[in-house]
Amino acid sequence: MVGVLALQGNFQSHIHILNAIGIESRLVKNVEDLSGLKGLILPGGESTTMSNLLFRDQSFIDGIKLFSDNKPILGTCAGLILMAKNSFDKKVLNMNIIDIEVNRNAYGRQVHSFDDLINVEYKNSEPLSIRASFIRAPKITNLGEDVEILCKHNSEIVGVKKGMHVAVTCHPELQNEILLHELCFKG
Ligand code: GLN
Repeated sequence: MVGVLALQGNFQSHIHILNAIGIESRLVKNVEDLSGLKGLILPGGESTTMSNLLFRDQSFIDGIKLFSDNKPILGTCAGLILMAKNSFDKKVLNMNIIDIEVNRNAYGRQVHSFDDLINVEYKNSEPLSIRASFIRAPKITNLGEDVEILCKHNSEIVGVKKGMHVAVTCHPELQNEILLHELCFKG
């Protein structure tokens, strides 16, 4: 069973994808909900709102960090921001699950949101193209040494992999793309 953080944001579309690939799912609203899960998704939404809710419950934050020590986490957009080492904003929780620095809302406002193809390159296989939505997306501005590049949009890095964890700046799940969920939780 894979959990989806369900404090705010587009958690329901991740539940939909997990159903589509035959993985049981559970909404995660507190630290107890993490027990027994084999993976976790941090969805998109508003990272400041999710952070506000998480800051109220240090045991939940500690629980997620501990979970990341031996179980995979997939983060999309705001989820990637929460997983990053730094987003240079005190209002935002950065759990340092992947050693990346990010710049929030780096493509501009909501009107500058767009859908496009991204390339996914994994394990020396041919790059695969999948569709993704960029909605007030962040940009990755710095990458730690142990972080692999997983997805690119044009020449820009929009997805990374660190060990078993995957994070993307965009939303493949809103385009019904299942590849990253399979890679993270079935691979
Ligand atoms: N702009 C949002 C933030 O900074 C992220 C947007 C999203 O998750 N689609 O939290």
